[in-house]
Amino acid sequence: MADHTSRLLDALDAFEDGIYIVNDDYTIEYMNKFMKALFGDGVGKKCHQVIIKSDKPCAWCKYDEIFIKNKNSHSQIYIASVDKNFSLSEHPVNNQDGTRSKLSIYNDITHSVQQEAILKASRESYQRLFTHVGCGVFISSKQGRFLDVNPALLKILGYQDKDEFLALDLATEVYLRPEDRQEYTDIIEKKGKVIDYELKWRKRDGNILHILLTSNVRYDTNGKILGYEGIVVDQTRRKKHENQIKEAHDFLDKIISCSTNAIMAMNMKGGIRLWNQGAENIFGFSSDQVVDKMSIQEIFPKKQTKMIMEMMRDDDFGGKGKLNSYPLTFKRDDKRLIEGNLSASILYDEQGKELASVAIFVDLKELLTTERQLSEARQHLLQSEKLAAMGRLTSQIAHELNNPLFGIMNTLELMKTEISPQNKRRRLLDMSLSEIERLADMLKKMLSFSKPDQRERQKIDIHTVIDELMLLYKKRFRENSIKVRFDLTCDPGLVLGSKDQLRQIFINLFSNAMYAMPEGGDLEISTKPVSSKLHITIRDTGTGIKPEHIHKVFHSFFTTKTESVQGVGLGLSVCYGFIKDHGGDIVVESQEGQWTKFTITLPVAD
Ligand code: ADP
Repeated sequence: MADHTSRLLDALDAFEDGIYIVNDDYTIEYMNKFMKALFGDGVGKKCHQVIIKSDKPCAWCKYDEIFIKNKNSHSQIYIASVDKNFSLSEHPVNNQDGTRSKLSIYNDITHSVQQEAILKASRESYQRLFTHVGCGVFISSKQGRFLDVNPALLKILGYQDKDEFLALDLATEVYLRPEDRQEYTDIIEKKGKVIDYELKWRKRDGNILHILLTSNVRYDTNGKILGYEGIVVDQTRRKKHENQIKEAHDFLDKIISCSTNAIMAMNMKGGIRLWNQGAENIFGFSSDQVVDKMSIQEIFPKKQTKMIMEMMRDDDFGGKGKLNSYPLTFKRDDKRLIEGNLSASILYDEQGKELASVAIFVDLKELLTTERQLSEARQHLLQSEKLAAMGRLTSQIAHELNNPLFGIMNTLELMKTEISPQNKRRRLLDMSLSEIERLADMLKKMLSFSKPDQRERQKIDIHTVIDELMLLYKKRFRENSIKVRFDLTCDPGLVLGSKDQLRQIFINLFSNAMYAMPEGGDLEISTKPVSSKLHITIRDTGTGIKPEHIHKVFHSFFTTKTESVQGVGLGLSVCYGFIKDHGGDIVVESQEGQWTKFTITLPVAD
């Protein structure tokens, strides 16, 4: 090889491409350094043996093109033995001896081929995503047309023909109101993007579509706005559910607020979270006053609230976390009585931790008042019936006994005149006579009980009746260490009534008071006009009445006096009958072991 040729070949070693020369029987005449590094030194060997390790020529061999047609050839090939892609340029070289050789240049393009494959794959996956993703994807122009949309968006809006869809004017044919698009573009252009922007679009059939739009602005290389791109999520079903939930919530809210019962919810510290109209009416606190501001302990008595919570946590009162119809009675701050039934329950979270409590209070005040009035009326009726029956019985007995009793009394009186006062038998006679007198007295009481006062009613000053009786009782009170105090009105008015009956009433009350104070005590007598009535109270500091007896004291024959001579249980029932006869009323209050107070109300005459 001439010198300049060898220099030239040395220069080819500096190339980063593989270069080699073969003659027309495939024998390699020359390989540069790069080629040798890739395939090993193959000079003198067949090119296909060196490059693809085969006895047959390479599949891409352009033998005819080069050696026969004397043309250049360019191709891309992959050689598995070195796992590389090459851009292959082959050129015929006409030798001086008339033979022809082939110059092949292998440019390694493996890296760029790989990059292209990656790019292609990613383009394909984006395309797949665009086509198959469940939400709508779009690219739109600034002027207001879709430039490209995925099938999901077509489906969401009810279109089949993509061209028809791309021809739509967004502002007037997709947005429910054109100004909504204006507002959207204003915001997105200001911020560069919108996330979960709520919008109403119109479907092809005209129905409204609620969507959430997340999109950003597309700029050109100069930063000029080209349009927008983003994703659209159909919210119609969610909106429908939301509306259903809201409707159910509103309905529940109405039920709660319209209930006449008090419905309350508290956190576990008692802090009030819900307070309906019923609760406002019953407990006298407005919802604004209590919700998130007050605790239930400030409204219900603390002790009762604590007990209610304890009962709720106990299994025995309607199951754990529940309390059924617990009677709750207490006085409001304004002294109004609250009476009713409370049902409550504790709400737990999934771990069983107490979250809150809910309570319903049913106001039974009116019902209980009516029931009480009914029972009182029933008692009165019973009392009147008893009195009537008593009246009939006692008048018969009195009639039957009166005559023989007076006969006996007269006989004894007669006998008395015949026995000298010094005689021992005279004392026995006196004792018999006094017993007979007591019997006669009792008979008189029984008769007065049966016979209504026949005499005409007259205007009576109650103070006069009391004064007259005091003359009789003064000495007896003193002997029994009873101090009498008066608190009398200066204007008692006049009562239309029977003096005898009124006197009888006070006699019975004074006798009972005296009996209740065997060791002495105080007797307070007071009168007070209240509207057109006169209230008379007689209060003693005696034994008092047991709570279980207080309802019975006006019943005929109710007595706690053990010796029959001291009481037959008619005194107060006679008083009751007389007072009712006068259009009045009598009530008793007492503290056992401390005091008893009778209050008589009588109508004052004009
Ligand atoms: P009696 O006096 O014959 O027992 P009453 O009808 O007068 O009949 O009284 C009925 C009962 O009422 C008495 O037995 C007594 O238990 C009770 N009572 C009446 N007044 C008083 C009073 N001032 N203090 C305590 N108990 C009283």
